[in-house]
Amino acid sequence: RAKQEGRNRFCFFSHDLEHSIMERHHLETRLRKALINDELFVHYQPKFDLRTNEIVGAEALVRLVNDEGEFISPAEFIPLSEESGLIIMLGKQVLNKACAEAKRWLDKGHIIPISVNVAAAQFADPDLACVIKEALLNNDFPAHLLELEITETALMIDAADMQNKLSELTSLGIKIAIDDFGTGYSSLAYLKKFNVDVMKIDMSFVKDMLNNKHDYEIVKTIISLGKSMGLVLIAEGVETEAQRHALIELECFMGQGYLFSRPLNTSDFETFVIQKKLQG
Ligand code: C2E
Ligand code: MG
Ligand code: MG
Ligand code: MG
Repeated sequence: RAKQEGRNRFCFFSHDLEHSIMERHHLETRLRKALINDELFVHYQPKFDLRTNEIVGAEALVRLVNDEGEFISPAEFIPLSEESGLIIMLGKQVLNKACAEAKRWLDKGHIIPISVNVAAAQFADPDLACVIKEALLNNDFPAHLLELEITETALMIDAADMQNKLSELTSLGIKIAIDDFGTGYSSLAYLKKFNVDVMKIDMSFVKDMLNNKHDYEIVKTIISLGKSMGLVLIAEGVETEAQRHALIELECFMGQGYLFSRPLNTSDFETFVIQKKLQG
């Protein structure tokens, strides 16, 4: 009987696996097609000065649409694009679209720094600096308004070469942010080698900072660490007024999150920016 059960279980597992392999294959095909036909979308989430409510920047977030016209989460296709190598092409497209869009804002008088996420494989790519230079040049976009968001884990993959890579990038005049800070595994010894400008506090800590003493202490510690390193701090996933106040009290003065705005498509973003300006 045990044998039979085991066999059944195996069958179940195998169907499951087959299903997920097919789904994965389908998603990869969809992504490939979108890359070739230039069908990727980029949404923009504004970043705010927590005290004045002013927009201080925007993060570009890639969006892929499925056959039904629904958005597929980047959490699903970014890992897949990393494994398949498509991330290099994806990253280049997002970077170009983001620079082009931010240049349009600039031409309309909205000076909004734009940040673009960079995956580990992109950071490891020897062509990255070239790709960035090209995006800036092609779009006539000023380097100081472009920021790359890189996770500490991605920075650490080639720890020996990290400082060289970072200085190659910063020498272009762009800014570097550490994304999802606190979720990686970098030691304090490495932290001092992070020659970066901005530290983004991961939203998993912000989320419960007011219900969980440990999370509060972690947020507090990250803020004092960032400040002591002379970095600009920004909190991710700010969803409530109470969190906004607590962050200001801890002297983190920038944030993004659903309290202010979800990521918006290009036309909604522009409307949002104009409305904010009218409100003063
Ligand atoms: P991330 O860079 O940490 O981006 C923040 C994510 O949090 C975004 O999810 C954003 O929509 C979401 N978010 C913002 N505010 C809130 C909030 O108040 N509450 C909650 N619950 N969520 C909030 P999204 O757009 O689904 O992106 C997920 C991740 O996918 C990103 O995390 C980033 O790691 C990756 N990603 C997105 N676009 C790109 C891209 O163009 N290139 C690369 N390499 N990665 C990307
Ligand atoms: Mg990010
Ligand atoms: Mg993040
Ligand atoms: Mg993240």
